[in-house]
Amino acid sequence: MSNDPRKSMTQQLICDFCSDTKSLTLIACKTFDVKHSVCDFPMTSVEGWWACPPCLQLIENGDRDGLFRRSKQSYIEKNGRENWDDRIDPYLYEFQRQFWENRDA
Ligand SMILES: [Zn+2]
Repeated sequence: MSNDPRKSMTQQLICDFCSDTKSLTLIACKTFDVKHSVCDFPMTSVEGWWACPPCLQLIENGDRDGLFRRSKQSYIEKNGRENWDDRIDPYLYEFQRQFWENRDA
């Protein structure tokens, strides 16, 4: 955790699911290569994912659909409905599925 590269960055930590900045918890996760079904360029998810309290609750409840809906909703609230393309839905869902798969429960 102390060698988490994101900790040395000057930017503020954000929830990896909804971008909130308060009371974040690091959820243990294996480092994994994001599959190409999600993005066209090589991307690696390194170790844990940060979660705010509401997202953490959804994760602890195993509520995958709820977590997906919250992520999408918070993006729309921050960036506007016109900046969300519903074609993104399956990509976000698949990306989070890979998180669930690699999570150290
Ligand atoms: Zn969150």
